[in-house]
Amino acid sequence: MVYLNGDFIAKNKASISIMDRGFLFGDGVYEVIPVYNGKIFRLQAHLDRLQKSLDSIQITNPYKTKKYLDILTQLISFSSVKDQSIYLQITRGADTQRKHIFDALIPTIYIESNPLISKTKQELSKGFSAISAQDIRWSRCDIKSISLLANILYAQDAKKHNVEEVILHRNNQITEGATSNVFMLKDNALFTHPTSNHILSGITRDLVLESAHACGLKIQETSFSLDDVFASDELWISSSTREIMPITMLDNKLINQGKVSATWQCVYKHYQQLKND
Ligand code: PLP
Repeated sequence: MVYLNGDFIAKNKASISIMDRGFLFGDGVYEVIPVYNGKIFRLQAHLDRLQKSLDSIQITNPYKTKKYLDILTQLISFSSVKDQSIYLQITRGADTQRKHIFDALIPTIYIESNPLISKTKQELSKGFSAISAQDIRWSRCDIKSISLLANILYAQDAKKHNVEEVILHRNNQITEGATSNVFMLKDNALFTHPTSNHILSGITRDLVLESAHACGLKIQETSFSLDDVFASDELWISSSTREIMPITMLDNKLINQGKVSATWQCVYKHYQQLKND
């Protein structure tokens, strides 16, 4: 079952107009929200970010928090799986003709939820590989836009190279991953790109910083370069579905001999506690 514009229906029965601006232009925004043990994780933070994305592209939010909560609660109850990943998309809606200029339309709201299988601590602590690439995306990466062409090309490149993620750099500074935020650990300090129009402000990013602080790390929201990464202690990525993942090899080179430290374990453990709160 999925949710579409007020109804819960079978996925293969759900359809939208070919005039929908999401279909024609990628004119819309989205959220991915994890559900752990039947409980929606950090819903308000995700709804706040959704509001920011909608405001940025001048779509009036069709629902209030209570309505989202009711819909999502019902949607996740259709499955007996306790951990799920909710995908929520809002487009500007369908117009009568294809034109760039927009008028006020009735937004299209689509929500689906799928089983979420998180990697275990053992799996994560083995470390993962990534490649780096020039950040070719536009300058409003703070909007969680459904226009994901650049991200799709990165994902395909990651698959070709058999790596987990593509780490992006702009003007020699690491911005974020193609689908994640990036952190560098060096001398008991955790570095990450400051929130700006060049990164998506990850909900997990905030939780990683909170967890890192609880583990006694110094938080440095300053950007860093590829060279800094190769001289660092560790590199991590974060996202709602990946949680906190150590990247031990970048561009075929091991970072600090591929070590995953007790510091990562501490931050990971704290994050797991937040999930259970
Ligand atoms: N940055 C980008 C480009 C992303 O696509 C994502 C998640 O999909 C993130 C960061 C992490 O965001 P969150 O922690 O809210 O999942």
